[in-house]
Amino acid sequence: MNTVRKSAPQLETLVPYDPKYLPARIMNSANENPCDVEEQIKREAMSAVRNVKLNRYPDPLANELRDLIAESNGLDRSQVLLGNGGDELLFNLALAYGGPGRKFLNMPPTFSVYENNAQLTGTEVVNVPRRADYSIDEEAVLARVAEGDIDFIIVTSPNNPTGQLAPEDFVLKLLNATDALVMVDEAYFEFSRTTLRPYLMQHKNLVLLRTFSKAFSLAGVRLGYLLGDECVIREFLKVRQPYSVDAVSQVIGKVIYQNRAKFEPSIIQIISERERMEQELATIPGVTAYPSDSNYILFKVADAGDVWQKLFDRGILIRDFSRSKYLEGSLRVSVGTPEENDEFLAELRKIVAG
Ligand SMILES: *Cc1c(COP(=O)(O)O)cnc(C)c1O
Repeated sequence: MNTVRKSAPQLETLVPYDPKYLPARIMNSANENPCDVEEQIKREAMSAVRNVKLNRYPDPLANELRDLIAESNGLDRSQVLLGNGGDELLFNLALAYGGPGRKFLNMPPTFSVYENNAQLTGTEVVNVPRRADYSIDEEAVLARVAEGDIDFIIVTSPNNPTGQLAPEDFVLKLLNATDALVMVDEAYFEFSRTTLRPYLMQHKNLVLLRTFSKAFSLAGVRLGYLLGDECVIREFLKVRQPYSVDAVSQVIGKVIYQNRAKFEPSIIQIISERERMEQELATIPGVTAYPSDSNYILFKVADAGDVWQKLFDRGILIRDFSRSKYLEGSLRVSVGTPEENDEFLAELRKIVAG
């Protein structure tokens, strides 16, 4: 056959996710930790990998890593679930709580993966856009939720790409106002040092998403996890791929998690560099930066698309949102090493001055 029939109808208008990850000398576009795992921890991880039996299927639920995470959060194994990156767990959320005839409340601009997953699973997206300063339109969200037909909600805290935390009192109001599943995406909580974990016990409808990809320098390995009520985790178990977290990732994740205190100096450096960058950006004429609780900063600048291109031509890759809905004229820079940040700031200053 030289033709092929159409794919599923919900794919027709879907565009594959494109992280726009181009090779560059300075890679400050994907919110990764700018430093690779330190040599000693890497060696420990590699020797653990050497002992993995590659011919055997992995433990489907990564129970050893699951237990480590559960214990350090004061939870039971049944309240933790590992995934192939946080992204897989976001997809599983749409599979388990979305679907035809069901509704997802989204607060754009936010992580675009959420909306893609909804579309893929035939879930209706109910958008409640953020205000002009990108804060959550709390009254509008609470009013929409009061209609009683929302099945799940994602609160990104800090929000990506805009940078700010969701107010805790708002999330608590939301949890009390609805029985919809509320996922708080805490992919960047190590940089905001704020979590809703203390409220897990009181709210069956609260689930937290975390990742190894950002603070723990492990974006290349693909590990994320959920913390939530046992009955919610059980629904995720029904939709997940049995062996999505491979044996190699499991042992590397264990070594990293056991050594997580050693990442603290780099997290502290990223936070202090973020503060320094915010101060510097404020002194560049024509640049308006949004306050950030995370490891990236969103800023507006005239001719943002051109500015992005000129930075790229100088070997600096940041993320271009200049043509994205709600984010027109915006660029997002991830906090890099002090040297990378200096170079970015100096080049941006020159480009904006013409
Ligand atoms: C990076 C990120 C994730 C998860 O990324 P993974 O690499 O798949 O673990 C989840 N949510 C947000 C908002 C992110 O930025």
